[in-house]
Amino acid sequence: MPYSDKYWQKEEIMPRREIEEIQLKRLRWVVRHAYDNVPFYRKKFRELGIHPDDIRRREDIRKLPFTTKEDLRENYPFGLFAVPKEKLVRIHTSSGSSGKPKVVGYTARDLENWINLCARCLYMVGLRSRDVFQNMVSYTMFTGGLGMHYAAERIGAMVVPSGTGNTERQIQFMLDFGTTAIHCTPSYALHIKEVAEGMEIDPKEIGLRIGCFGAEPWSEATRKKLEDAFDLKAFDSYGLSEMNGPGVAFECEEQNGLHIWADHYFIEVVDPETGEQLGEGEKGELVLTPLTKEALPLIRYRTGDITFVMDEEKCSCGRTHPKIHRIIGRCDDMIIVRGINVFPSQIEHVLMQIPEVGDNYQVVITKKGALDEITVRVEVKDEFFTGELADMERLRRKIQEELRKELGLRTNVELVEKGTLERFEGKAKRILDLRGEV
Ligand code: ADP
Ligand code: ZN
Repeated sequence: MPYSDKYWQKEEIMPRREIEEIQLKRLRWVVRHAYDNVPFYRKKFRELGIHPDDIRRREDIRKLPFTTKEDLRENYPFGLFAVPKEKLVRIHTSSGSSGKPKVVGYTARDLENWINLCARCLYMVGLRSRDVFQNMVSYTMFTGGLGMHYAAERIGAMVVPSGTGNTERQIQFMLDFGTTAIHCTPSYALHIKEVAEGMEIDPKEIGLRIGCFGAEPWSEATRKKLEDAFDLKAFDSYGLSEMNGPGVAFECEEQNGLHIWADHYFIEVVDPETGEQLGEGEKGELVLTPLTKEALPLIRYRTGDITFVMDEEKCSCGRTHPKIHRIIGRCDDMIIVRGINVFPSQIEHVLMQIPEVGDNYQVVITKKGALDEITVRVEVKDEFFTGELADMERLRRKIQEELRKELGLRTNVELVEKGTLERFEGKAKRILDLRGEV
């Protein structure tokens, strides 16, 4: 049962001071839980000469060691779990975007918490029992499928568990079942739009109201494109398997920053190089400590995701949980070209604002002598393909110039015909790094 017609749980509007009290209480619990039940943490704590009793204030979190993706991989599959196998009711794995997948596990109570966190998010963007929720992400090991499925069901919406693939059928389902809300990656949403247009269906006619898009970085320009095409409101959904999955942070009606559920996740942003904590507004790596996870407590987990905590003004939606800026990129996606840091999301931001540019692009990084080169391959919309070389050259130069303004460096731009580049049902792989190859 929802707490009110606006909030799923009362914790969403709890005064900040109370959230902080809960954080301290839960932090002490999780640190003790990890120390008592995970040999990896006991050893780490001993090496650092610290003990769970040393955590007396929230600031004491700084005394604790970080946990990295490598730690999870080295302890594959269950080495960091804090409960015996008979207490586990489910496992998932990460998508494996950056190497060998990590295994995560849940107790019955973990699942219950996770469902409610996802339900907070869906309820926040207006999903109600009268909605039809089409869940177009993978239902297997990826957390996004089952995670959002159970949350939408809990709210009472009618769930269409269509998973990924067969885009024409997905569109037919939407029309036949009266789908009002969808969940998928933003790149898949762009693909749906393209396929619908190919079927001579105006995406607006589908009747969608709410789009929940996540699992990969996307830009404000893409939001605008999706909102205009489908006539819906598009919300950014952030999560990662190690923190249960989706439902960690989500945009509210303001569509300006993502509320991150601070009663379940302790938030820090650190300098990715030095590990020093950064202040509000300072861009760095998001470090999260889940505060209620029984099966897999992770202390100060380095997410690898770059963002910052936004200004401390109370949000007009009434929720008191802090907001983070949309994810700018992953530490390991950052390209350093001639000393300049580039995130793929910056490239996307530029491209999606150029009217001639279609929905797909690819970034190829190569090495020419000692220097890295970026080549951006861009699909041009059919209606702008005039066949005139001079027109194409003009467009190519225009894109190159826009990219130079944003990135501060010269890139090669290649124009290709619509339909040339690969389409994605899940997370898009738009970066092709060929630097390691001869
Ligand atoms: P993997 O790290 O293998 O992709 P997951 O499937 O758990 O594993 O995906 C979590 C990661 O996906 C996050 O750490 C982040 O890099 C990315 N991600 C998830 N949601 C978003 C989002 N809304 N914006 C940008 N990146 C996101
Ligand atoms: Zn808000």
